Amino acid sequence: MNSRAPLVDQFARRISYLRLSVTDRCDLRCAYCMPERQVFLPRAEVLSLEELHRLALGFIDRGITKLRLTGGEPLVRRDMIELVRALGRKLGAPDAGGGLEELTLTTNGTRLAEFADDLRGAGVRRINVSLDTLDRATFARLTRRDSLPQVLEGIAAAKAAGLMVKINTVALKGLNAAEIPDLIAWAHGAGHELTLIEVMPLGEVEEDRFEHYLPLSAVQDDLERRWTLTPSGHRTGGPARYFDIAETGGRLGLITPLTNNFCEGCNRIRVTATGQLFACLGGSEQVDLRAALRSADPDAAMADALDLAMRIKPERHHFVIDRPGGAPALARHMSMTGG
Ligand code: SAM
Ligand code: SF4
Repeated sequence: MNSRAPLVDQFARRISYLRLSVTDRCDLRCAYCMPERQVFLPRAEVLSLEELHRLALGFIDRGITKLRLTGGEPLVRRDMIELVRALGRKLGAPDAGGGLEELTLTTNGTRLAEFADDLRGAGVRRINVSLDTLDRATFARLTRRDSLPQVLEGIAAAKAAGLMVKINTVALKGLNAAEIPDLIAWAHGAGHELTLIEVMPLGEVEEDRFEHYLPLSAVQDDLERRWTLTPSGHRTGGPARYFDIAETGGRLGLITPLTNNFCEGCNRIRVTATGQLFACLGGSEQVDLRAALRSADPDAAMADALDLAMRIKPERHHFVIDRPGGAPALARHMSMTGG
């Protein structure tokens, strides 16, 4: 790297959080995320383990302290644990050769039982597991795969391995809406935080997202009729607002890209498995880091590319889901950039 300057965008936001997608492939087909016949990238286009590692080190040099591995499903990538181990060695103080404060991942949980101990051994302490329902038939309808038992087994294995598990749930009208209180009670009862997310208009899918779009303002009203929600001072530097629920003794997060814009405090940047940096989840501003990595002078090219990313990061996204049959805001699926 030529420049070791911290990453600060044109709106004076300090970027300290990288979400790195390690694959666009997945073993589930969540209906709001991708079509059944999703066309995946040719493997040759995806960054190698060495390239992903080098890229992550470049970001750590520029002050990235939190790194989340995502996908697609990160645990379907064959050399994933090797990457986690290599990056785990960067956990710790910068003057001791580290720089990362947290290494984490977002997973659908289907392969967690196999990898929970390895993740913990590599230095991972907290993970996010996406789970939208506890009902097997609804799970199969939502993900188009009958994998709920594996996911529950994976969550239990993660807990047993000493990983803190946060459950992420996309709120969906007519699908899991009625079950949300039970999901929260289950998660809190098992010692997991749970965060609800509004569905976002990213990429073409077979279903009309408008049909299942559920504003979290309505969910919050419903939960407040049932339970005592107290706004929590808890902050993670992310977009969620938190509430403590007296009756369950747990914490609930709400991520509301549609009903309550949160871009002002954005501290993150995303890179796809092909090394495309997206400056915003909701925008098309992009920089090709793979070209930089494969150039004659990768350090200089990466430094220039990251400086450019800071100049083009937009102020905010402009998602709307306001009518039936509306086109996605972007052609790109969430499985490209990860959650
Ligand atoms: N496969 C992993 C998983 O499901 O956790 C990681 C990648 S997945 C794209 C990350 C998160 O994005 C999941 O919690 C998923 O529910 C969420 N997601 C996918 N498509 C979405 C959409 N269109 N709107 C909102 N959330 C979405
Ligand atoms: Fe796969 Fe995650 Fe998308 Fe579901 S949300 S299809 S698990 S990438």
